[in-house]
Amino acid sequence: MKVFHHWMKLAPWALSASLLVGCHPKRMAPPLEAEAPVALTAAEAEECRFKPPPPYQPTPEQNEKDQIYSLVAYAVVYRNWQEASVGVGVRGYNIGSVLVDPSGRLVCWARNAVGVTGNKTQHGEVRLMTNYLHNTTGGALGGGYTVYTTLEPCAMCSGMMTLMSVKSTVYGQADPDFGKALERLSFNSTAIHGFCSYPRGVTSGEVIHAIAERLDQGYARYMQTHPPVITDFLASPEARQIFADAEQQLLTFKVQFPSNQPVLDSALAFLQGVPREYTETPYTTNCQAP
Ligand SMILES: [Zn+2]
Repeated sequence: MKVFHHWMKLAPWALSASLLVGCHPKRMAPPLEAEAPVALTAAEAEECRFKPPPPYQPTPEQNEKDQIYSLVAYAVVYRNWQEASVGVGVRGYNIGSVLVDPSGRLVCWARNAVGVTGNKTQHGEVRLMTNYLHNTTGGALGGGYTVYTTLEPCAMCSGMMTLMSVKSTVYGQADPDFGKALERLSFNSTAIHGFCSYPRGVTSGEVIHAIAERLDQGYARYMQTHPPVITDFLASPEARQIFADAEQQLLTFKVQFPSNQPVLDSALAFLQGVPREYTETPYTTNCQAP
């Protein structure tokens, strides 16, 4: 009777399977009662083919480069500042980005244009990548490209960066709601019965700079008295002042690492060539492969 009771606790498929192979009940061990989820071991979780990208941990010298490129991205936005986030004549949101190629050259720029185009896909990063690719023959951005963008990338832009094999992205403000898309893609959740990391992980991190801190803190305060719409905050007088200060900091930047002086010089020259007015895609001005 005890043996019978033991069998009754087995899953039906286990019973029929063991009968098929002629297994004696007393040799069936342990009982198959695994209704409760069981976490995979670390070894089992490591069976994924694709690993998450390395975390964003710039050296002090690289951090200074990241600051310079990020200040260029803020300045690109500030030079076509929009006083409102939506409405007649509004280009789009005060968000923009610049592209740095594997050799460290600034090779393209773009601003959000969802308003003027009437097309919600026209985020700064989408326009940056598609416009650059229009002017080149490679078809992708493999080999070490970095996207510097003023606001943490959304899922759409993160997906495009992933499929284009972008190496990393550095953003100038965190987005509490639409951010961390790249982290979600690269998160290996097999240990909790989820999924392996998505292929072609993109390293993502916020630039270590006072301007980014001011934007994060400014939006946190803004949300206490306004609906949590980050693009509305980005059309506020406070945001405008922060972006204006970012441009000034770029124009008066003093490098701590002499090796970054050419980076700063080329960044200032690049910014001078970025049109202040809205530019339809495709454009080649300051957006060409070397
Ligand atoms: Zn986006």
